[in-house]
Amino acid sequence: MLILGLQKTTLLDYPGKIASTIFTGGCNFRCPFCHNRDLVMPPNDVIAYSEDEIFEHLKAKKKVLDGVCITGGEPTLHKDLPGFIHKIKDMGLLVKLDSNGTNPDMVESLINQGLVDYIAMDIKNSKEKYNSIACMPNFDIGTIEASVELLKQERVDYEFRTTIMRECHDAEDMEAIGQWIKGAKAYYLQSYKESEQVINPIFSAHSPETLKSFVDILKNYIPNTNLRGID
Ligand code: SF4
Repeated sequence: MLILGLQKTTLLDYPGKIASTIFTGGCNFRCPFCHNRDLVMPPNDVIAYSEDEIFEHLKAKKKVLDGVCITGGEPTLHKDLPGFIHKIKDMGLLVKLDSNGTNPDMVESLINQGLVDYIAMDIKNSKEKYNSIACMPNFDIGTIEASVELLKQERVDYEFRTTIMRECHDAEDMEAIGQWIKGAKAYYLQSYKESEQVINPIFSAHSPETLKSFVDILKNYIPNTNLRGID
């Protein structure tokens, strides 16, 4: 595991839980709107956390933590992720996994072994626009489709989520996404936020009114669609 970040306590990353968040390094996408540039493309002089440091922290805070959120980058790129999670589960902590959905085989294996309690999977855009928004022109969207179908089996609690940019998402895209993930358990739209950590800071946010109109479209397909981080 390449662990490049640790947020010791968060009330935001794991819905309804007190958690620590672990940030893994590396990603197989290059989303230009990504807020985690230094995780996706780590600088040469980056200093990683050792597993010992992580587990020392978790042991010290075990009494106040409900669980651990593992995010990235893309955690499922790391072949030793299952073993790492095993050790967290052995401590009696819940595990939430954030994923871009490109490794359905690992996600299914984690579900089969009872190693994850909650999965948040990105839906970058409609199928038609997926490759352009992830900046992966030759990427086969089949893995994303497989992950969507896997999560919709509801063998584990989950949500889909999309970061919405004015330059990338319109009402037609919401219709297309709605038809694609119709019947999903939960779907969250998150407005794009400007930040110095973005890979390519060329995007802007839709107005709150437009975002609410997108939710109205999506509720026709996924009744439990909500805005996150918008008042
Ligand atoms: S947004 Fe997620 S999938 Fe895209 S580059 Fe960043 S970490 Fe990777």
